[in-house]
Order: sequence, then structure tokens, then C-alpha cells
Amino acid sequence: MLTYTCSCCGETHAGSPSFGYKAPHYYDLLSDEDKTQTAELDDDICVIGTDEQCDRFVRAILEVPILGSVEPFLWGVWVSLSEASFKRYLMTWDEPDESDSYFGWFSNRLPHYPDTLNLKTSVRPRKGGLRPCLVLEQSDHPLAMHFHQGLSAEEAQQIAERVMHPQ
Ligand SMILES: [Zn+2]
Repeated sequence: MLTYTCSCCGETHAGSPSFGYKAPHYYDLLSDEDKTQTAELDDDICVIGTDEQCDRFVRAILEVPILGSVEPFLWGVWVSLSEASFKRYLMTWDEPDESDSYFGWFSNRLPHYPDTLNLKTSVRPRKGGLRPCLVLEQSDHPLAMHFHQGLSAEEAQQIAERVMHPQ
């Protein structure tokens, strides 16, 4: 298990880090008025826009392996899906087909990394009421490299400190 003395607050933080976003980045950019009038948001799904022109998001889990640790670094993040994928996602909500895979654009900005918006992902639904897993397309983006190769415990600590103690 990852345990470390925090360089920010001096306390011992134990357990692999797990952080989630309540909404896609684009939702956070909306005015309060637009949030209530043109958007819908719950724990798993977000729609922004009108029927003719809208963006559809789902929440998924990104598991980044920490080298030397059993538990991964978890990010609860949002990705945008095409209309067809989104419809299928909702239609199979109660009985997800684990052979499905939906293309999605990464829709949050993670701290520490170069901009993570619009990284290419695939969304893999899971049975048992679990949030879908996210797979990042191979690229030289540091988050994609961490996803495929793992990150060091030291770097995991740095990222966690940055999330827990912003400025
Ligand atoms: Zn701390």
C-alpha cells in the first residue's frame, strides 16, 4: 500500500489515491443560468445543449497502475460520447454488454499533466453496477504513458499532494 508523509501538510496519507470529478470540464465552464437551463447532470451522465445540438458525457474510472503497489491510482473522470454510443450506453444501462467499447474524448483537465482534454479513449462498460473502465489510446502524452506503463510511487505522491492541497 502507498503510504507517505505529505510534503504539504506533514500528515501521513495512506492508501492509493482516488479522486473524482463531479462534472465534465465543459459543465464547469457554464454560467449558473446555463447549468440549470441547458444542462443535465447526475452522478453518471451529463448532457449539455439542446436536442438538435448537444454534447453527451458519461463518467468512467481511469485506473493508472502504481509501480510496486497493488492498488492503482484512480481517477473518476468524464468522456464525451457520440449520440449513437450514448444511446446504446443508456439502453444497456441495466444489463451492460462487456464486449461493448465506445470511443470517447477525455473531458476533464487533470492537475500535474499537460492538458488532458480530448485525449482519445475507449469506454468499457462493466456489469454489477460498476462504473465503466476507461482505456487511453497509446500516445506520448504522459497520462497515456502512465496508464500503459505505470507511474512511480513518488510521482503518484506528487500528484496526490497537488490534488489534495491545491496552492
Ligand atoms: Zn497532505
